[in-house]
Amino acid sequence: MAAVKREEKARNIQVVVRCRPFNTVERKSSYGIVDCDQRRKEVAVRTTGGSDKARKTYTFDMVFGPAAKQIEVYRSVLCPILDEVILGYNCTVFAYGQTGTGKTFTMEGERTQDEHFTWEEDPLAGIIPRTLHQIFEKLSDSGTEFSVKVSLLEIYNEELFDLLSPTEDASERLQLFDDPRNKRGVVVRGLEEVVVHNKDEVYQILERGAAKRRTAYTLMNAYSSRSHSVFSVTIHMKEITVEGEELVKIGKLNLVDLAGSESIGRSGSVDKRAREAGSINQSLLTLGRVITALVEKRPHIPYRESKLTRILQDSLGGRTKTSIIATVSPSSSNLEETLSTLDYASRAK
Ligand code: ADP
Ligand code: MG
Repeated sequence: MAAVKREEKARNIQVVVRCRPFNTVERKSSYGIVDCDQRRKEVAVRTTGGSDKARKTYTFDMVFGPAAKQIEVYRSVLCPILDEVILGYNCTVFAYGQTGTGKTFTMEGERTQDEHFTWEEDPLAGIIPRTLHQIFEKLSDSGTEFSVKVSLLEIYNEELFDLLSPTEDASERLQLFDDPRNKRGVVVRGLEEVVVHNKDEVYQILERGAAKRRTAYTLMNAYSSRSHSVFSVTIHMKEITVEGEELVKIGKLNLVDLAGSESIGRSGSVDKRAREAGSINQSLLTLGRVITALVEKRPHIPYRESKLTRILQDSLGGRTKTSIIATVSPSSSNLEETLSTLDYASRAK
């Protein structure tokens, strides 16, 4: 059996910004300060009120303004990443940003009310349902034998919760161990990996996770803004080459909806308010340091300093692709947080 040769190529981190539309409250009580130029890949933020024209401009790999559709984000960001996964590589997509700016909208999406779209055809469907649907579409007519497994774990206060486990108990925690077979990997003992046989099963699995998450909301304080959600898809593929050789590939894609970034200050360190409130988010902080270390090609990458970065260790750096989708609000009422998110995102380029 020939394993796919994994060449260590240059690291590949892509940073994308998405600005959501105004909501009703903001439209009444604030004004717009974010200008997105999708073609020039620029985001400009008006940093002072009134007639003063002070602006801060950032450039990213891609920029999506408030009118950008879910399918556009999927096509531009996910399609190239999914191609890598199907070649047998591990990749990760993060949604990073202040609570309420569209991380979950981008990763999971929503359902259109009063219309009867199937879940995968709903224009509001986010990256997770679109990706799973596309995996089956692509591989079903490729002649490759394949199987798909998914898991959904959440990290809250450096503890691990399995949202797909069959037990009723939403407060059961999982343990993390180093994988003795894989130098760069860890094992989450007991994590449920659900085999997805066809695209129609996907929606039921996502619903199961959502139901458990609702229980977690009521059990844990500020769960929705402080937890990280890691949805992982593993694809096992077997092909017969023209030489008649059996080729086995395993690709993994992590789709991560991060905790709200409001506890991270503009310098990338823990914000004073967050420190006082004791809500330091170790995983979010360490992720920033890991990405900086990868970008600067430092010899030591501090993966081990948080649960999130340990879990993602085999999917960050080396021959992997990482996309960070930084989400922002268009409104003057969120100026500080928007600058903070854009500064963080800029450091990852
Ligand atoms: P977060 O997960 O970052 O806390 P959400 O995804 O829950 O934020 O989004 C907050 C609200 O904004 C939701 O009501 C969502 O429907 C809306 N929203 C976010 N992004 C968009 C977008 N690009 N287009 C339309 N509505 C959006
Ligand atoms: Mg959310």
